[in-house]
Amino acid sequence: MTELNGRVTPSADMQNGIDSFRAARALPTLLGDQLPDGFVPIRVKAWQFLCLARIANFAALRRHLGRTRADRLSHDAYEKIAAMLPSARVVVVGRTTIEFGFEGETIADLETTLDRLREEFSAPVDIDGEYHEFRTLFGAAAAPVGATEEVRLAEEAESALDQAHVEQQSVVRDLSMGTPAFDRLTLTRELGAAIANGEMFLQYQPKVHVRRQEIASAEALVRWQHPSRGLVLPGDFISLAEEIGEIGPLTLWTLDKVIEDQRTIAADGNDLTIFINISGQLLADAAFVATACAKVCDNAARIGFEITETSVIGDPQSAIANLQKFADVGIAIAIDDYGAGLSSLAYLKQLPARELKIDKMFVLQLTSSNRDPLIVRSTIDLAHALEMEVTAEGVETQAAMALLTVMGCDMVQGYLISRPISIDAFRQFLRDDKLRPEQDSAPSMFKRPASFWKSG
Ligand code: C2E
Ligand code: MG
Ligand code: MG
Repeated sequence: MTELNGRVTPSADMQNGIDSFRAARALPTLLGDQLPDGFVPIRVKAWQFLCLARIANFAALRRHLGRTRADRLSHDAYEKIAAMLPSARVVVVGRTTIEFGFEGETIADLETTLDRLREEFSAPVDIDGEYHEFRTLFGAAAAPVGATEEVRLAEEAESALDQAHVEQQSVVRDLSMGTPAFDRLTLTRELGAAIANGEMFLQYQPKVHVRRQEIASAEALVRWQHPSRGLVLPGDFISLAEEIGEIGPLTLWTLDKVIEDQRTIAADGNDLTIFINISGQLLADAAFVATACAKVCDNAARIGFEITETSVIGDPQSAIANLQKFADVGIAIAIDDYGAGLSSLAYLKQLPARELKIDKMFVLQLTSSNRDPLIVRSTIDLAHALEMEVTAEGVETQAAMALLTVMGCDMVQGYLISRPISIDAFRQFLRDDKLRPEQDSAPSMFKRPASFWKSG
């Protein structure tokens, strides 16, 4: 995370981040091949911004104008922002604060917009015939589309605004830069001991088969319950674990725990494949491959591995050979985050994968974007042509679910069905799902006839 006061000036690192993200967002050639003749790509809105504007001199204005008129000031500011940014989502979030969210092609779009707003707000405002200064402070958070949870974006924007108050100038936080260096160092030191100290735990997120209307499988996601920091999400420690060589032990710990939890789930009468995420690094690690295969075989476990295409590109020969070893012992292979990294039709064809998961960056804005439905549709057709089933990640709304159903998507995963939950909550989820048809006439979130989604 980089904090920049007043202006957003991309550092060399940040520019690299932007460039590599641009490269990652560049449509895979295979999709380019599938676009209709004469198709002109729409400019990619690759960044999302969440901003808070606060009337910093509200108290002084209220003293002068009186409470009733002062209470309408936030609405005046709202109208100014909404008029300047017609495509932004603008809401008044209190007497003094306005929130607005919008997308841009690069982080520089945020800088330009904040400059325009600062200029607009610096001119005295006509309030019932008197001209007053509207001193406004901005706090903003910026992240690549789909890369950051909305809640985190909101928290960072709030914290940027608090800091803007202290420093009396606007503050922007770029969340694409990960954890600050100091944090990374500290976390690195602590990570090694975290597994041994029992600080890691798993959450499970179900995947639902759209046509069969049943829970198809689940994905295990690792979390770190840090003794002083609270919950640390994988985005903040998986790359560290890779850097310090802890990803192998962490993944084997995950596999052991999943095997144990799968037994518990089976004892409840549920026979589900559970997927775990495998870092690219491990695809070239012979010792890991042998140990993982042995654990799965010895326990007759129903396990799937989620891998990204990018992880195969580093050393395709050994990655493909090892993936074949996994497949030979019955491990299901799913391609994760499809479309977010570098795609190659040549590798896609060679991978022994049964499932392709479309990255949530294309799904989150499925019903509000022009371009994402085209990509999702082509990807579903492509995967089906390669005899793979398709899972859409990041399904948060019924509208997205309806569209995906019509497009022929096989499985869905996302907050609409369930957030990642503890093993106990997941067991309860499975129990509720079984009981519902007999005890409850109301269908569950996903147990609806296809006709429902098609009409809705
Ligand atoms: P992933 O494998 O693509 O996992 C899906 C991520 O999307 C999870 O974030 C999940 O919480 C989030 N998600 C699920 N449904 C929705 C939704 O409807 N909306 C939104 N906005 N997000 C949704 P999480 O748990 O933070 O994991 C992030 C990434 O960390 C994972 O992405 C995976 O690449 C990695 N990861 C997680 N556990 C492990 C692990 O055990 N080993 C390795 N190597 N990587 C892991
Ligand atoms: Mg995954
Ligand atoms: Mg994914």
